[in-house]
Amino acid sequence: MDLKTFCKRIPKIELHAHLNGSVSLKTLLKLSELQSPADAKSQIIHEIHPSESLKECFKLFEIVHSLTDTPETIFIATSDVIQEFYDDNVIYLELRSTPRHVEGKMTKREYIEAIINAIKSPKIKKTGITVKLLISVDRKRGAKNAEENIALAIEYYEKYSEYVVGIDLSGDPIQGEISIDLLQRARNVGLKIAAHCAEVPNEKEVVDILNFKPDRLGHCTCIHPNLNGTKQLYDMLLKSRIPVELCLTSNVKCKTVPSFSEHQFAYLYEAKHPICIATDDKGVFGTTLSAEFELVAIHFGLTRQNLKDLCLSAVQFAFATEKEKSQLSLKIELFYNIN
Ligand SMILES: [Zn+2]
Repeated sequence: MDLKTFCKRIPKIELHAHLNGSVSLKTLLKLSELQSPADAKSQIIHEIHPSESLKECFKLFEIVHSLTDTPETIFIATSDVIQEFYDDNVIYLELRSTPRHVEGKMTKREYIEAIINAIKSPKIKKTGITVKLLISVDRKRGAKNAEENIALAIEYYEKYSEYVVGIDLSGDPIQGEISIDLLQRARNVGLKIAAHCAEVPNEKEVVDILNFKPDRLGHCTCIHPNLNGTKQLYDMLLKSRIPVELCLTSNVKCKTVPSFSEHQFAYLYEAKHPICIATDDKGVFGTTLSAEFELVAIHFGLTRQNLKDLCLSAVQFAFATEKEKSQLSLKIELFYNIN
């Protein structure tokens, strides 16, 4: 079996996927057809080819937002994204999304419920994929918004703890006592915390995040001295032992790292720091989790056994129950027993 086929067939664990950025062009076309055919947006989609340039990548985010502004379209987008991950042999998926309020069309609660309804729909349940939701909080949108989203996360965790499992933090998470209290409140009820960290150089932010000790970190790009970080920061990260979600294509396309071979994967893997491989925004960056596995195998010389170890350790970092984790590990072991 060639490497591409092998990477596709391994049962994989996806821990860093933003719902909006994961929507494929195919789904966008479907959603645009639901709108008025004369709408200019459908024209734009026809002209866009994902992965061509960063500008086009970000234009896609805007289009996704404008096409998913009702509970019905959020349901369709979520179902399609899950189905596509499943088709790529992802057996466990954590989606993250910022609850969105669209005046006259959708409340934040309806937004969250549309995602949960897609996750627990018979069509998705039938596939056997396990899907969880992390509620995103963007600190740059202000304290009031953060407080509202965390309160919603707690409310839905209490109602649907099988599906809503954590908070995803982007931006600087620690700005004053209120934020720490909020995060702590989320933690106290049992929600896990994943934080985007060091996508751009910002020593204070990294120190604050590491001191808070999230359950997982995203990216951690500008931490190693060779990637605009410092030795002190890098040592602090290694000492923390907090698992890091690495998204190679996203970082290279956004130019936060110069090339695949210079990606922080090299340093963290070498240092045996806990890591997992993820897509970030598969629709926007035109990638799949299989493609990301293939990239690490090619650029860092990982063997098929090494890829298995990455999958098995990702299971341990998942915000899943112990029972779910043992079932996921078993699926990976079974695949390797016969391949
Ligand atoms: Zn991300």
